[in-house]
Amino acid sequence: MINSDLIENAKSYKSRIKKNSLAKEPSRKLVIVTCMDSRLDIFKIFDLQDGQAHIIRNAGGVITEDVLRSIAISQRKLNTEELILMQHLDCGLKILDDLEFIDEITSVGGIKPNWIPHGFKDSHENMRQSLELIKNTPYVISSNLAGLLINETTGEVEQVL
Ligand SMILES: [Zn+2]
Repeated sequence: MINSDLIENAKSYKSRIKKNSLAKEPSRKLVIVTCMDSRLDIFKIFDLQDGQAHIIRNAGGVITEDVLRSIAISQRKLNTEELILMQHLDCGLKILDDLEFIDEITSVGGIKPNWIPHGFKDSHENMRQSLELIKNTPYVISSNLAGLLINETTGEVEQVL
């Protein structure tokens, strides 16, 4: 059961929203791919406002087929030009063994998932592989690409080249 406060909060949003006429094309022409981690407030980290960037999130900030789909739409139909991948040091995927996790969820319903979990051990290596995957996807524009690793505890950010 979903906490009813959340439903009520959503229903009363219309009284709290500052109505605006923002375009659906992000004004900073920016798309950010990142992890779903609840400690990462992307708008605070990058000092962004509503309407300025697309934020694409999943477990790990992994470059999946669906992330590439979203980037392609963002770049080609909604005019974004800069692409930032932000992953973080204490990611939940670092404790995940892909095969064990697939076995675990297959045992629940008997159906093997058609995706892989993308667990990893080394944050820097994972970032490098993710950046290579983006660069090697022909329909993704990667001329303005940055890979950033954040320490979610201290806020320290390192650019991975
Ligand atoms: Zn994470």
